[in-house]
Amino acid sequence: MIAEIHIEDKATMQTFGGKLTTVLQPGSTVFLHGDLGAGKTTLVRGFLQALGHRGAVKSPTYTLVEPYLLSEQKIYHFDLYRLGDPGELEYMGIRDYFDNGAICFVEWPEHGADLLPAPSLEISILYQGSTRILHILTAEAGLMNQISQQ
Ligand code: ADP
Ligand code: MG
Repeated sequence: MIAEIHIEDKATMQTFGGKLTTVLQPGSTVFLHGDLGAGKTTLVRGFLQALGHRGAVKSPTYTLVEPYLLSEQKIYHFDLYRLGDPGELEYMGIRDYFDNGAICFVEWPEHGADLLPAPSLEISILYQGSTRILHILTAEAGLMNQISQQ
């Protein structure tokens, strides 16, 4: 199932990320596709801030993953842009991150090859001037209904 959403500015992208707090369940994995500067980290920042995070949300480009604990919910924010070899994911014990009820956001999931689990939700962000076009893909009809009703 696929939906298309147009997002006019950065603030609206953060608001959209925040709305995902009401639809994602513990254990959900979200793949975020899009070029550098598309707004992937901005969306995750909106999600984290909506759950009460108050500090910076930096891009985990060098650390590969940044953990958060907010309202007793674990969240892992991955950025695999600089991942040289998917084998590094095995080395860091990647399965443990996805098997413990955490909500996981993954930027550049294509760099993880087949070592990542299937996502609950895939969001592809395209540019058109300052507007961002989101293509949202999920196999879960209930999830899509909730997002569309936002
Ligand atoms: P990514 O993680 O995809 O590389 P970032 O979220 O780090 O991208 O950066 C997106 C940049 O684009 C930010 O500087 C943000 O201010 C800017 N921007 C402009 N318009 C938008 C929009 N509609 N949605 C999201 N970000 C936008
Ligand atoms: Mg980013």
